Amino acid sequence: MTVATLPNSPVRTDPALAGITDRVERGQRLSAADGRTLYATADIHTVCRLADRVRRRLHADVAYYNVNRHINYSNVCALSCTFCAFHRKKGADGAYEMSIDEVRAEAVAAEAAGATELHIVGGLHPWLPFDYYLDMMRAIRTAAPSLHIKAFTAVELVHLARIAKRGRDGYEGIKSVLRDLRDAGLGSLPGGGAEVFDDRVHDTAFKGKIRAGQWLDVHRAAHELGINSNATMLYGHVEERADRIQHLMMLREQQDRTLAAWAHDTGVPVCDAERHDGTTGPAVVLTGPGAGPAWLPTPQTCNTGYFQTIIPLPFFPNDSALEHLPGPTGLENLRTLAIARLMLDNFPHVKAFWIMQSLEMAQFMLQNGADDIDGTVVWYDITKLDGPTTHQETTVFDLQRVIREAGFVPVERDTLYRPVDRSGT
Ligand code: SF4
Repeated sequence: MTVATLPNSPVRTDPALAGITDRVERGQRLSAADGRTLYATADIHTVCRLADRVRRRLHADVAYYNVNRHINYSNVCALSCTFCAFHRKKGADGAYEMSIDEVRAEAVAAEAAGATELHIVGGLHPWLPFDYYLDMMRAIRTAAPSLHIKAFTAVELVHLARIAKRGRDGYEGIKSVLRDLRDAGLGSLPGGGAEVFDDRVHDTAFKGKIRAGQWLDVHRAAHELGINSNATMLYGHVEERADRIQHLMMLREQQDRTLAAWAHDTGVPVCDAERHDGTTGPAVVLTGPGAGPAWLPTPQTCNTGYFQTIIPLPFFPNDSALEHLPGPTGLENLRTLAIARLMLDNFPHVKAFWIMQSLEMAQFMLQNGADDIDGTVVWYDITKLDGPTTHQETTVFDLQRVIREAGFVPVERDTLYRPVDRSGT
């Protein structure tokens, strides 16, 4: 049998990426135009290679996972976001709410199974009183004191301020609700509910939910109280790619303000850079050639809370009111994650949330910008990647295996990205 040989084909590189490559090498901030170029190019290899370069500067060959449990305490919601297949109206088929005893039992089981974190979110329940949420925090804190409670998206917290009758106090009302929850046991905030920061997208896909300014305010209030948080971007529905770039820039600008004093104290470089509204301002860039663990904020070195992680979330059309949309492809998911790593030069971590990306894709994403794949999860009601069940569990063995196969050293982290030492257990 003869095998046809192909002529040597040159490696395809896009000259339009030369300037961006230079800026990444020098540790300079990328602009909105750079972000659009990273989306437009056919040279996905260079985009991913640059994201990997930045990721390795920050985290070398380490990749993180954690041992956690998710609790979705109720799917009853006053809103009806068109992209959401999770919510139900009170009394509708499939609507549920967990009692405090049920939440407590889940927490005890999670702690006994070795979890370090509970991730708790739900719908905007129209009738549960604010005391339900405080009691939930206290019950977990008492019954399973070793668990870190990461709970409530920004839109839930605005809802809680309203039912606690502090909604009219605006920013201070949010802050006082956060203070009460923190005193009852809340440890940090997840990043949900951000979707994409754009008014047109908001009014089309999640009208009634809070807008960008309020989402950012909730996280700013948390950071001022010393509470860390994450950020998400739910993409692949009615937004444009340019909207995603704006979303990332708005997150980046808020993090600039949050980390400014810390950067000044620790000597991390600050430069002037473009903002999403065309103005310029001080920028904290953690990803330059001198990057490494010493350039990462920690709860010990930073007096405030800060954004820890960006979690790009692909939209799943199934069962939602936007079911006619195709949803993003694997390559678009990979590109979006790599671009998030490159644009968010002041975010310590990028998570490939395996529940929504699949373990196989998360493994690939570790080589292209991600440094974290989340945890063991067990129950997750918000989206179902494969089939109708909400039981979506993986094991520590499998998490470690996929990380090792991707060429990294698995490190179990707690919610605040401190290594977990299980040698004595
Ligand atoms: S996305 Fe959240 S706020 Fe919107 S309908 Fe679903 S549960 Fe409710």
